[in-house]
Amino acid sequence: MSKTILILPGDGIGPEIVNEAMKVLACLRDEFGLDAEFDEALIGGAAYDAAGHPLPEPTMELAREADAVLLGAVGGPKWEPLDISVRPEKGLLGLRAGLGLFANLRPAILYPQLADASTLKADVVSGLDIMIVRELTGGIYFGQPRGVRKLDNGEREGYNTLIYKESEVDRIVRVAMDIAMKRNSRVCSVDKANVLECTELWREVATRVGGDYPDVELSHMYVDNAAMQLVRAPKQFDVMVTTNMFGDILSDCAAMLTGSIGMLPSASLDEQGKGMYEPIHGSAPDISGKGLANPLATILSVAMLLRYSLNEPELAERVEAAVNSVLDSGLRTPDIHSPGMTEVGTEKMGDAVVTALCSS
Ligand code: NAD
Repeated sequence: MSKTILILPGDGIGPEIVNEAMKVLACLRDEFGLDAEFDEALIGGAAYDAAGHPLPEPTMELAREADAVLLGAVGGPKWEPLDISVRPEKGLLGLRAGLGLFANLRPAILYPQLADASTLKADVVSGLDIMIVRELTGGIYFGQPRGVRKLDNGEREGYNTLIYKESEVDRIVRVAMDIAMKRNSRVCSVDKANVLECTELWREVATRVGGDYPDVELSHMYVDNAAMQLVRAPKQFDVMVTTNMFGDILSDCAAMLTGSIGMLPSASLDEQGKGMYEPIHGSAPDISGKGLANPLATILSVAMLLRYSLNEPELAERVEAAVNSVLDSGLRTPDIHSPGMTEVGTEKMGDAVVTALCSS
């Protein structure tokens, strides 16, 4: 049965990079039999300008009906003065919450061709391939009570609540375990069980779930050590699973090991495997409209979409192989350019991936 993919270009470089990803999807449909239909809708600042809200109801409706969502990026200086309730980023948060996307998958892959782009020594990071699984709809970012209150002496105090139900930990650890089974069968669960009761429970539940996966090696690490190990010896990790806030921080740290924000895709999944796929970077207002943006993170997000929501692992591999071969050929957008390579813009990079795909 034909699958529906909702395309949300968004703001800034969003439309430019999504345009290149669409060329890849069209090639997969026309040349490789991908049975998919595409809808397009507004989100973020573009949606606010057109409809007065960053997540208009028609967009949410289409997102609910779709099998998967591909998003560019949202936000930009134009919308910063707006009230926080209608800022572009609210559209994204609303979509994640509305679709129940509790599992955020952030791969940090360093293509050997780009080893020089990392601030770490090439031998520490070359060949790096980590998958960080971050819990996305719970924890301290959502826990109640929260706020800022005035004490009797007039001083103010801010407070948030770190809270996880056993079921929330159980389902995110299972996602990590299932992914590890398709990779190198190792999961490191990251917590702060020595200080926080909530993550003591996290560790207990993770250990229990681990018992259901005898083929996966489960280890535990405190978050401070995990941060240190990520920059000391990152290749020791296969899959990492952690809370919303720890995952937020560690996944950005892992992303930067690869040196290029323009290369990294992400997926956010619900319990049925429906997902939203997007590059990890933002709308890059500084280069928007100039044809300089690297479209590869978005194209690699298409690969994740094929693998996790459309169950098309072979097509996903084809897309990843096409990206690899374009990097082998020496083409580079400015963000990943280095001496001796050929600098190209957004469109030429997208076209090169399509050419590589079609000739595969
Ligand atoms: P950013 O990721 O947009 O840009 C950071 C730097 O990386 C910039 O120098 C930019 O030019 C560069 N960059 C980003 N993507 C690139 C690409 N594909 N190719 C080449 N270079 C690229 O982060 P920011 O500047 O902090 O935020 C800009 C806007 O994006 C803000 O409004 C922010 O709220 C929003 N944002 C949105 C998302 C999202 O949509 N998921 C994520 C992060 C930030």
